[in-house]
Amino acid sequence: MKISDIKLKIGEDESLVKQKALKKAGLKSAPYFRLLKKSLDARDKGDIFYTYSVELSDTPFEDAQEEIGLYSYPSKPVVIVGFGPAGLFCALSLARCGFNPIVLERGSNVDERKAKTEKFFSKAVLDPECNVQYGEGGAGTFSDGKLNTGVKSEYKQYVLSELIRHGAPECIAYLSKPHVGSDILPTVVKSIREEIIALGGKVLFDTRLSDLRIENGKITEIEYTDKKGKSRMEISELIVAIGHSSRDTYAMFFDKGVVMEQKDCAIGLRVEHLAQDINMAQYGKNIGVTADYKLTANVNNRGVFSFCMCPGGVVVPSSSEEGGVVTNGMSEFKRDKTNSNSAIVCQVRASDYGGGIMDGIDFVRGLEQRAFVMGGRNYCAPVQNVTDFLRDRKSSRFDRVRPTYSIGTEFCRMDDVLPPFIISSIRGAFSQFDRKIKGFASSGVLTAVESRTSSPVRIVRGEKLNGIGIENMYPAGEVGYAGGIMSAALDGLKIANAIKQRYIK
Ligand SMILES: Cc1cc2nc3c(=O)[nH]c(=O)nc-3n(C[C@H](O)[C@H](O)[C@H](O)COP(=O)(O)OP(=O)(O)OC[C@H]3O[C@@H](n4cnc5c(N)ncnc54)[C@H](O)[C@@H]3O)c2cc1C
Repeated sequence: MKISDIKLKIGEDESLVKQKALKKAGLKSAPYFRLLKKSLDARDKGDIFYTYSVELSDTPFEDAQEEIGLYSYPSKPVVIVGFGPAGLFCALSLARCGFNPIVLERGSNVDERKAKTEKFFSKAVLDPECNVQYGEGGAGTFSDGKLNTGVKSEYKQYVLSELIRHGAPECIAYLSKPHVGSDILPTVVKSIREEIIALGGKVLFDTRLSDLRIENGKITEIEYTDKKGKSRMEISELIVAIGHSSRDTYAMFFDKGVVMEQKDCAIGLRVEHLAQDINMAQYGKNIGVTADYKLTANVNNRGVFSFCMCPGGVVVPSSSEEGGVVTNGMSEFKRDKTNSNSAIVCQVRASDYGGGIMDGIDFVRGLEQRAFVMGGRNYCAPVQNVTDFLRDRKSSRFDRVRPTYSIGTEFCRMDDVLPPFIISSIRGAFSQFDRKIKGFASSGVLTAVESRTSSPVRIVRGEKLNGIGIENMYPAGEVGYAGGIMSAALDGLKIANAIKQRYIK
């Protein structure tokens, strides 16, 4: 029995939830009880409370499970390229069904990756093969670890349960906006990798897919490059879970005639405010929860919106190519840092790039290179106070908010970094945002450039989820079919099920 709309005041003991649920259901007891959802209702600042949905049962709870069956396994390996959420969940699911997948991941295992990213964060030494975008766990390992998605799927609970089993906090199972945090995610992804290997799978780190042989609409062989050089491997199926940053791999696919198409993306800036200011604007008082926000506007016929909001977090240097500055955000589980940040991005249409399939990638790369030059060519990022940005005036000192981008910053005009259509839309959106969050436009600092919110190109797949014209290649995750950790993980599971269906007896 599901019971919803149970209310608790801030600070009330959570054990009351079960009592209230039993009362609402007219029951004296229920052997099995679980929280399904917990959300904060702060619409009325004078009456902020939590609402809960719960489930009561006589029998143990069962969640959707992966499709298990009897398979006639292929004689050549199933290879997954990329060990982000899509590749990771695809590999886990296939390994559990006896497929012994081989994962190729161009970045390093999470321990080595931590050391390499730290070197970039503190000394500006970028490893173009292992960074915030590449390595075990994919782009989301050093993130806020938000797990919400608009995608409807019966496997959401399954993904959450697996993350919990591998070390994520239990509350992610029922919070309406669950997040894991960059301090916990590395342990979780490492533990999932260990299970994949224990089940018979292989994960080859520092190993990049570098070429393909396509014969009669099938990939027969791949080339991969690791520290020892180039090697070739015959394969049965290839899952392409490379995310959206691996531009050299997209170029290789393009050269091989893989069908791709342009898509819209969103580009802009990271904005940071004091977390306490956002808390006050959202709750009117300190309630012990770092506040988030979600903002949207339409200016000059373009959508402008906040994205990947990181309460109590930092702006993280996220470059993966030499000579380009990229920002993103991350938080630890506690979300207790001084600033709260989010991307403020403007819709960029495929028609803005130019006519060619790869023009979107060139467009985005050009902006990252511009940010690199404006930052001083040493991975410092261009910054401007929000108030100065609104008046198009170079800042000369910070206001109350100091940027957290760790490598260093350089004052500049954002008008010199981004094209006028993005600047004018974002500028126009700030006054609208200030009406929703008081003070949004009167303090804060902007860091450029936020360019990796989504891919400007998609590897097209057909009804059976394989790449058009290539029967054994499956694009998965953020190659055009996901926009975040949870949706990428769900897409990875979807592809695993498609592969299983091909081999079911
Ligand atoms: C700093 C940061 C913070 C983020 N915060 C959040 C958040 O809080 N919540 C959220 O939902 N999303 C967040 N995202 C976005 C999220 O991480 C991505 O949407 C998600 O990781 C996409 O999953 P994926 O598996 O499709 O691709 P990715 O995670 O990008 O993984 C692709 C993997 O493929 C590997 N690869 C690429 N090319 C090759 C090749 N040729 N050979 C071998 N390996 C290759 C890469 O090294 C990479 O590890 C964040 C992203 C970043 C960068």
